Amino acid sequence: MPDYNPSIGCTVHQCSHHAKSKNYCSLDSIQVGTHESNPTVPPCTDCQSFDLSTK
Ligand code: SF4
Repeated sequence: MPDYNPSIGCTVHQCSHHAKSKNYCSLDSIQVGTHESNPTVPPCTDCQSFDLSTK
């Protein structure tokens, strides 16, 4: 098993869940949400699994 999830591409290297050596997330699943009342473009969405605490 790779130490990353090939189904979740991610370039947010600052996140503690990032696979580092590859542009993927290491989690089995993530939660995606929005900070907008009416999202219309990709920047309206957020990875709510983002975390800095375990670095
Ligand atoms: S938790 Fe979200 S932001 Fe963090 S590496 Fe995974 S997909 Fe990227």
